[in-house]
Amino acid sequence: MMSMKKYFSQYAAIFFVIAGTVSFDASALTVKEKIAESPAVKAAIEELVLANRILYDQNAVDGYGHISVRNPANPNTFFLARSIAPSVVTVDDIIEFDMNGKALNGDVRVAYGERFIHSGILRNRPDINSVIHGHAAATLPYGLTGSTLKPIYHMSAFLGDGAPIFEIRDFASPNTDTDMFVGSIDLGDALSKSMGLQYFVLMRGHGYAVGADSIKKAVFRAIYAIQNANIQAEAMKMGTVQYLSPGEASRAQETIEKTVGRPWQLWSEKVIRP
Ligand SMILES: [Zn+2]
Repeated sequence: MMSMKKYFSQYAAIFFVIAGTVSFDASALTVKEKIAESPAVKAAIEELVLANRILYDQNAVDGYGHISVRNPANPNTFFLARSIAPSVVTVDDIIEFDMNGKALNGDVRVAYGERFIHSGILRNRPDINSVIHGHAAATLPYGLTGSTLKPIYHMSAFLGDGAPIFEIRDFASPNTDTDMFVGSIDLGDALSKSMGLQYFVLMRGHGYAVGADSIKKAVFRAIYAIQNANIQAEAMKMGTVQYLSPGEASRAQETIEKTVGRPWQLWSEKVIRP
């Protein structure tokens, strides 16, 4: 028969295991508490807020569009603003989500309906830590016409062999007439599959999604993919377009993307208020 002393010591052990689990369960902390606890989380969220302002200032998003970042303290969650315009996002607006697009920490604020774009790509692509979605007009024609968005200069060399297209009709069932929104886990997965191993995907009749291993690089890619779309359209009017070869694209991407901190500095200065 178990002695009282042994009984209570086992009981105490179970109690401390449970108490310890609760007190060290990072997901029980709010985003604000996580910022206070982790310099890496604080830096990521502050950069995310700045990126929202930059993307708006550089016309990569408008009243719609959003950017996410994977939690540097937990690769299975990510941060994304609540459902507001990118130009007004602050640290207080950031929500943490799991990889199914479910808000954590009991956060019940209204979230972007298309958060599944972020959860789908971040779940399927461990090499991507930041995702941007927007509707930049210059990118739209390439999802509609059969003309492939391809790198016409070194700045957008990451476009590689050309941007794939997400055709939502191929994944919607039973009715292929959708509202065009990536509003479910399944459609987020389908979008990610369409992106494949590339970093940019056009969404027919909707916009684009782009990813990178850092916020700075994702912003760089969004801005220069849109510039590429504009320049390519102009070049196509003038004649046969000479695109970067796959070898040029690969080498140019490696060189130029080492310097993404430089334009970031310029873009930041424009949106940081004195
Ligand atoms: Zn959208």
